[in-house]
Amino acid sequence: MPSTAFWLAAMLKTLIRTRSAPLPPPADLHGVRVVPNSRARRLALRVDAKLGDVVLTWPKRTSLHAAEKFVRENMDWVERHRAKITPVRNFDAGARIPLAGKEYTIVPAAGRGVTRIEGDTIIVHGDAAHLHRRVRDFIKAESLRQLTALSAEKAATLGLKPTSVRVLDPKSRWGSCGSDGKLMYSWRIIFAPPEVMDYLVAHETAHRIHMNHGPAFWRLCASLTTDAKSARRWLRDHGKTLMAWK
Ligand SMILES: [Zn+2]
Repeated sequence: MPSTAFWLAAMLKTLIRTRSAPLPPPADLHGVRVVPNSRARRLALRVDAKLGDVVLTWPKRTSLHAAEKFVRENMDWVERHRAKITPVRNFDAGARIPLAGKEYTIVPAAGRGVTRIEGDTIIVHGDAAHLHRRVRDFIKAESLRQLTALSAEKAATLGLKPTSVRVLDPKSRWGSCGSDGKLMYSWRIIFAPPEVMDYLVAHETAHRIHMNHGPAFWRLCASLTTDAKSARRWLRDHGKTLMAWK
């Protein structure tokens, strides 16, 4: 059994250590990434949206004990914010990508050749350093192809001519229809189930007739797709996950 003297000695040792040079901070505390910051005045928690994790700002001369206590006391906050973070995902070799409701695995290949779908794989040739960009370009092109075809199809049911379609990467909307009838979509909609893409195209195509969100617009939109309500709900609940791909 450890004696009182042992405990005293241990305490003194800790005290001396805290008074002199503090220990270097650990890399993480209870799963929270530690970021030393010599200019910070107090311990603080924040979300690093770019890297998709929770970060503890560690001022100079912070004791491990104080930091641990701080993180423990704020664990509710940490868990709450962690649940809301969408992890960042790369188009790496072996990654599984949902495209229009089907999953594909990225498979690198030697030599030259076009990026293509074969069965349930996306074959990508060339240097590993360009893999991510190649896959991204391929998915964007595929998204544009599907959105263009679907937009023309829905326009035809309304007796409208096909219009110009672009894909961009907006942060706060999935599509838009200009007063000239030109359509813009987020290329990321291809990661959603096909019914959701179908709804989005129905929505923007309906704007070619009604430039508002009135009852007539919603009636027309509903007539152009199978289940506008469910698709809207899906986008509201899961839309953020489409932004996870870098
Ligand atoms: Zn709208």
